[in-house]
Amino acid sequence: MAHSIAIVGLGKIARDQHLPSISKNPDFELAAIVSRNAELEGVDHFTSLDQMLAARPDIKSVALCTPPQVRRQYAEAAIRARRHVLLEKPPGATVAEVDWLKNLAAEHGVALFATWHSRYAQGVEPARRFLADKTIHSVDIVWREDVRRWHPGQDWIWEPGGMGVFDPGINALSILTHILPAPVLVTGAVLEVPANRQTPIAAEIDFASVTGHPVTADFDWRQEGPQTWDITVRIDAGLLELSAGGAVLRIDGQTQLAADDTEYDGIYAHFASLLAGGESDVDISPLQLVADASMLGEIRKVEAFIE
Ligand code: NAP
Repeated sequence: MAHSIAIVGLGKIARDQHLPSISKNPDFELAAIVSRNAELEGVDHFTSLDQMLAARPDIKSVALCTPPQVRRQYAEAAIRARRHVLLEKPPGATVAEVDWLKNLAAEHGVALFATWHSRYAQGVEPARRFLADKTIHSVDIVWREDVRRWHPGQDWIWEPGGMGVFDPGINALSILTHILPAPVLVTGAVLEVPANRQTPIAAEIDFASVTGHPVTADFDWRQEGPQTWDITVRIDAGLLELSAGGAVLRIDGQTQLAADDTEYDGIYAHFASLLAGGESDVDISPLQLVADASMLGEIRKVEAFIE
């Protein structure tokens, strides 16, 4: 029987990705929407999560598609009501709250899934397998996009906890921490924060792998025209390149794979398997790197950002 699931927060990502992936997956049935402002025709609607949890005990899972600043409160309420929880990325506004939620879910016997959608880009898993036994010399990430195009009218990204350019940048870090055989540590960062905002519009980060090789990341939200989501890994005898956010994989200049975007289909397939096995999947390592870059980072004030 399909799992009844509710979406909490009917914004851009819920409409663009969660609704289509849920409707395609026979393991799930969309049973309710929790939204302060929006409704979906033909689907039960609640303006608060607490109302939904009380009225629909048959709904055993929720997908939290809100901004990160309010994720912990919603997740805590759902877990205490013994519902399984899927968290959009980033899984929270702090590292400690996500770790705490993981323990809370275990205490209540429910599954917690901290999703990292970029890990389901089709080039990522083959890249991880390819790199598993290689000696890596360096990694360079360039993640440059146009904030006006991808985040129109989203004030929360500029507020404390919204993470600014780390909101897309953490997707690159979720791939990095998945494909490298050893952990990386932040060694320095420069964060460019618009004069009228609280969060960075650009960031340069230096990392060192515990195995010794350098990693750099260049995140920028001011790129108009073609968008860049590239990770280049130099190895002993060649080069591995992931581009288009992980959908395209090249090794030594030869294209191995250029796939369609099926990231959220992969997320819901994995959630179904977690529910079947009664397991959680919570990896905080990308969020930890953002926290560390924010702790170590030199702040440079730059031109005000006017949308
Ligand atoms: P969004 O369009 O602003 O939607 C967020 C929704 O959360 C709002 O529609 C709002 O829905 C709800 N919400 C509940 N409490 C809120 C609060 N205190 N402040 C603001 N909104 C609140 O944002 P989004 O782009 O969908 O992003 C949501 C999450 O998905 C973020 O963590 C983001 O990183 C992640 N994500 C986004 C994208 C993308 O392309 N945009 C891609 C991947 C992941 P109601 O009015 O319905 O309550």
